[in-house]
Amino acid sequence: MNPSEVFEIIEKHTRFMRDSIPLIASENLTSLSVRRCYLSDLGHRYAEGKVGHRFYEGCSFVDEIEERAVDLTKKIFEAEHANVQPISGVVANIAAFFALTDVGDTIMSISVPCGGHISHDTVSAAGLRGLRVIHYPFDNEEMNINVDETRNVALREKPKLFILGSSLILFRQPVKEIKEIADEIGAYVMYDASHVLGLIAGKAFQNPLKEGADVMTGSTHKTFFGPQRAIIASKKELAEKVDRAVFPGVVSNHHLNTLAGYVVAAMEILEFGQDYAKQVVKNARALAEELYNLGYKVLGEKKGFTETHQVAVDVRDFGGGEKVAKTLENAGIVLNKNLLPWDSLESTDNPSGIRIGVQEVTRIGMGEEEMKIIAEIIDAAIKEKKSAEELRKEVRELKERFNIIKYSFDQSEAYIFPELK
Ligand SMILES: *Cc1c(COP(=O)(O)O)cnc(C)c1O
Repeated sequence: MNPSEVFEIIEKHTRFMRDSIPLIASENLTSLSVRRCYLSDLGHRYAEGKVGHRFYEGCSFVDEIEERAVDLTKKIFEAEHANVQPISGVVANIAAFFALTDVGDTIMSISVPCGGHISHDTVSAAGLRGLRVIHYPFDNEEMNINVDETRNVALREKPKLFILGSSLILFRQPVKEIKEIADEIGAYVMYDASHVLGLIAGKAFQNPLKEGADVMTGSTHKTFFGPQRAIIASKKELAEKVDRAVFPGVVSNHHLNTLAGYVVAAMEILEFGQDYAKQVVKNARALAEELYNLGYKVLGEKKGFTETHQVAVDVRDFGGGEKVAKTLENAGIVLNKNLLPWDSLESTDNPSGIRIGVQEVTRIGMGEEEMKIIAEIIDAAIKEKKSAEELRKEVRELKERFNIIKYSFDQSEAYIFPELK
């Protein structure tokens, strides 16, 4: 038994990430200040319950941290209420389902091929809660919900909850319009902002709470700067329901080291979030346009390709998402294959598309110039214009110039790992 073998594997992983272009849309890097919080003593402690009403002693400093987390969340999202205890996005969604629905209720969500998250469906959290799930009519050209048809279906099926927000999300969604339909039939609207939380915080995207959503859930580590956990923000009248659903509903302890990391990340977002979010959207557009000009079928063409950190490309002409994503990984470009609206759930192993996220490369300081280079590398890899080895070298040379966490107080190195030195 030798623990060093674990560190050797971590070193290889860190080296691999350092030498790659990371384009997974759900990931990001944290600053050194955020990472310091992970390693602190807080990670050994318990704080069940609410601030000021804990079940164990020793929580007074934790209370100071959680109070800041709640206040900053309310401030950033202009929310009446915030719960910062869910330890992941799915956990936040289960809690929201506990708070807003009863077993047997019908809910309406975006299907997985159209971009919805599995937790909005019966295979995952919605199924655990015993919900019946129906899907929004979806317009593949617009890459958005068809509101008129949704109204017809909703008046007939009477869902108790409308879920908005997706995992493949290119454009603002019709929160106001869905809220109007929900009001007609006495339903709630929940917006799952996991992917776009940092863009909302940076005021580069719609704030669903201001457009009428009753509840907003979201992971804190995709476009937001935090460690892996989640938040639930809501209207004041739902505060008690939400809090009870989170504790004792779905968490006991809630990982106090990453809670502290979230507070630091929220401070970074307040200070630097607007510049960052603006650049993220600019970069996504630049990458989409470049790929389009190189002849790729980039989704959302009629609407300027994207309003988020994401770009979606139909790569059926090049063997499909599985083959293309693997080819790109060999060339040093890390992203994921993705279902597109016309795919069936049976095609998850080789879907039509790839999904690209530019939030992480933006965090390390890349701009539109670099998006152009990345598009050229992607093109060269897919069309086999150069060998994988040559491309990996180009990737390394590009990446070497971007090794600092921008939009943070400490400007730390992106891939901190002592063995790499
Ligand atoms: C990523 C994602 C989640 C899940 O978040 P985790 O923190 O991984 O549990 C939930 N909803 C949506 C829309 C997501 O994209």
